Amino acid sequence: MLRLNNIHKSYPTGDTFLHVLKGINLHIREGEFVSIMGSSGSGKSTLLNVLGILDNYDEGEYHLNNTLVKDLSENDAADFRNHTIGFVFQSFNLISFKTALENVALPLYYQGISRKKRNKIALEYLDKVGLAPWADHLPNQLSGGQKQRVAIARALITQPKVILADEPTGALDTSTSYEVMELLKDINNQGITVIIVTHEQDIAEITKKIIYLKDGLIDHIQDNTLVKENQTL
Ligand code: ATP
Ligand code: MG
Repeated sequence: MLRLNNIHKSYPTGDTFLHVLKGINLHIREGEFVSIMGSSGSGKSTLLNVLGILDNYDEGEYHLNNTLVKDLSENDAADFRNHTIGFVFQSFNLISFKTALENVALPLYYQGISRKKRNKIALEYLDKVGLAPWADHLPNQLSGGQKQRVAIARALITQPKVILADEPTGALDTSTSYEVMELLKDINNQGITVIIVTHEQDIAEITKKIIYLKDGLIDHIQDNTLVKENQTL
């Protein structure tokens, strides 16, 4: 589903370049639940932004659903971002003056769906994340975990094939982090591919596979399903 072949990415810094991704090879299949780990500055967010077509790459090939991303027109890239991919961020990125329901409904507003219809669908998605009773609350009337649930409902409303989440638990306390991870696990169990970036080992262990980035390359990949099977032997 997502296939990276020798991906390089540099950022211009003054009169030189910072080489961040130095030849990433990665294949993530439909239905996988993956985390990306690595020290601060190792390129985790850069890699996620490339995967989400939020940023371009310099060299190599990225195929998303068998489409070569580099060849996409800006319209087709936007189509992928609006329909195939759902984004979740550390800081939730909710609109402060819109209610939970309106925040969740926002992607449908951009699709031109009538207010009545989008509010009905948004309420169903708020219900899926356990927040239907909070529909009329503003973000500042919600806890961090509730805000992240609203953001996840908003990401799901366009029925994406893959959820990309950059430090989704980074602003949450430990128990709330686990609740949000349980929700992402449920979403993955429904067949959606989930890719998270985290710097917390305990959080990464919840996913089925951990990709360790180091010096712009994949250092190694840990298969958590094997580890867990061995532990029960
Ligand atoms: P963290 O754990 O701190 O979030 P990260 O692994 O997500 O780190 P990136 O954000 O991918 O790291 O950044 C990798 C490197 O690229 C860093 O040295 C960063 O300063 C640099 N960088 C990131 N974005 C840009 C940009 N838009 N312009 C220039 N340099 C950038
Ligand atoms: Mg980052």
